[in-house]
Amino acid sequence: MTVTGEAGTISALLKEERRYPPPPEFAAQANANDPAIYARAEADPEGFWAEQAARLDWFTPFQQVLEWKPPYAKWFLGGTLNATYNCVDRHAKTWRRNKAAIIWEGEPGDERVLTYGDLLREVNRAAAALKRLGVKKGDRVAIYMPMIPELPIAMLACARLGAPFTVVFGGFSPDALRERIADSAAKVAITADGGYRRGNVVGLKANVDAAISGETTIEKVLVVRRTGAPIQMQEGRDLWWHEALDAEGYPRVPCEPVDSEHPLYILYTSGTTGKPKGVLHTTAGYLVGTSATHRLIFDIKEEDVYWCTADIGWVTGHSYIVFGPMVNGATNIMYEGAPDWPDKDRFWALVEKYRITILYTAPTAIRSFMRWGTEYPARHDMSSLRLLGTVGEPINPEAWVWYWEHIGGGRCPIVDTWWQTETGQIMISPLPGLTTTVPGSATKPFPGVKAEILDEAGNPVPDNTGGNLVLSRPWPAMMRTIWGDDERYVRQYWSKYPGKYLTGDGARRDEDGNFWLLGRVDDVLNVAGHRLGTMEIESALVSHPAVAEAAVIGISHEIKGQGVAAFVTLRAGATPSDQLKEELREQVAKVISPIARPDKIFFTAELPKTRSAKIMRRLLRDIAEGRALGDTTTLTDPAVLAELKKRYEEKES
Ligand code: ATP
Ligand code: MG
Repeated sequence: MTVTGEAGTISALLKEERRYPPPPEFAAQANANDPAIYARAEADPEGFWAEQAARLDWFTPFQQVLEWKPPYAKWFLGGTLNATYNCVDRHAKTWRRNKAAIIWEGEPGDERVLTYGDLLREVNRAAAALKRLGVKKGDRVAIYMPMIPELPIAMLACARLGAPFTVVFGGFSPDALRERIADSAAKVAITADGGYRRGNVVGLKANVDAAISGETTIEKVLVVRRTGAPIQMQEGRDLWWHEALDAEGYPRVPCEPVDSEHPLYILYTSGTTGKPKGVLHTTAGYLVGTSATHRLIFDIKEEDVYWCTADIGWVTGHSYIVFGPMVNGATNIMYEGAPDWPDKDRFWALVEKYRITILYTAPTAIRSFMRWGTEYPARHDMSSLRLLGTVGEPINPEAWVWYWEHIGGGRCPIVDTWWQTETGQIMISPLPGLTTTVPGSATKPFPGVKAEILDEAGNPVPDNTGGNLVLSRPWPAMMRTIWGDDERYVRQYWSKYPGKYLTGDGARRDEDGNFWLLGRVDDVLNVAGHRLGTMEIESALVSHPAVAEAAVIGISHEIKGQGVAAFVTLRAGATPSDQLKEELREQVAKVISPIARPDKIFFTAELPKTRSAKIMRRLLRDIAEGRALGDTTTLTDPAVLAELKKRYEEKES
């Protein structure tokens, strides 16, 4: 691989020789088993998506697949449908009425199973209660809840009425909640008295009270009783969920037929690169994109027990716990709490107990599991697993191989799925029965998706040269705009390369056509004229047996312009030392190139992460440059950052 230092290209230096063809037994039964699917979708993308759309139930069939007036797309024009009808009602009309839709486990170990029939009943009751509170088609509802079944029930109840919802992750502060409520002008809020996390009750209602004190658009608050923790109920404004639903009995609330382009929800992005954006998703295209990718990438079968470990507060939970799987009539596992409660084997205990077959989680979780050690998965029988997935950040090849061996038992294909809140659906991923996977690469664009890597001038870069990842053709689940801010939608995503969607991520393509995500373009380093992605240097560090996780940033350097600083967390049992620093420098020089050798290595117990657990390199840059910290509202634990800043400054002075 060549080292190119031209402006606008990102050097691509990581070498990865390992290849994992689909296991033949898996390939033989896969939902996507004909490689011609790619050529077929490429020859006629609209036809391909229309075929997927035929799997939905429509009240009025659509007349036209796509209207594309860049940057505004409309999909499945003329059609009417309802998301909840497709996720619940239609299954409850068949034998799936008695199939588990949600198998839920609370952190303390309490259990609930809801069949599609149960879900229909509860969604109807919740929809009736919301209707009585004045919620109508088009009204917004804010949802701020722990991972309990009432969360998807609330979302589906809103969608039944045609009321767009905005789910705000339960870990967010009152200020973050206030901002999102104000931006979406929500009329009703749904919350709970709390949820469980590492044995503690996390209060939510008090945060809602704080977020809607003073001027607010919220008129009513529905409160689920989960923990029994004492809370304040404001007369005339706050109602208990169970009382409101019980008052309705067992009603049947018709599904509101909505236009294909009717808003389904608004979701604010993770805020890794800055202030969150209210991403708008609409109904038909979103359901088509999420369900088709779910069926083909996760190879979902009637008898699968599927577990996506994301919180529903993030897009992964919207698309791959609620809408994709439920359109497909799948059985979902849902878990309320932390992976290390009561012990670090909780996930594997769940896999064993429920005989989970498909597991979808994040690189950050996998790196924690690596750090904790193999003894935890080794305690459990995980032979039920047949497919593994990852999403959220680039997965370092070492973490990929660890996942393959210690979780998948060397038998389960891994789908590394690249996508964004804005894309709504997975865009780049293996198809597990067809694709030969390579650790660290998300491999190929999904059928019908066109992804390109461009230089600053808009020209495609040669193989193995980094550039800007763009999506050059509309897709059904794409965001329609930023809520209330068309101008920002156009400026941020569509102005650099007119007619093409700018992802903000750097990528390269190798000679086999596999895509490698190099990290965010904002995080790219420029060392002596070489633009280096963060992912490759971090992966080189993680390939050292002592390292669990690493974050790399550029720092000012007199000669090189920028130097490389690495923040490193170690695996259990490894100890920081100057000798280890030297070994790590050598490791990077060997695996990547001497130009990428870190100038500074800083050992730390934790890295600053967003609440969706992504590394926030921009804050590390602020620390290294001695600047005031940028927006920290989406940070998990401000204490981690304060400690890091203090220790960094001590070392530097
Ligand atoms: P914000 O846009 O507010 O800064 P965010 O980008 O973290 O936050 P999300 O939409 O949750 O918000 O995350 C999408 C981003 O996550 C992608 O743009 C990419 O950087 C990263 N990502 C997700 N999946 C993968 C993957 N499989 N490989 C590499 N990167 C990934
Ligand atoms: Mg983003």
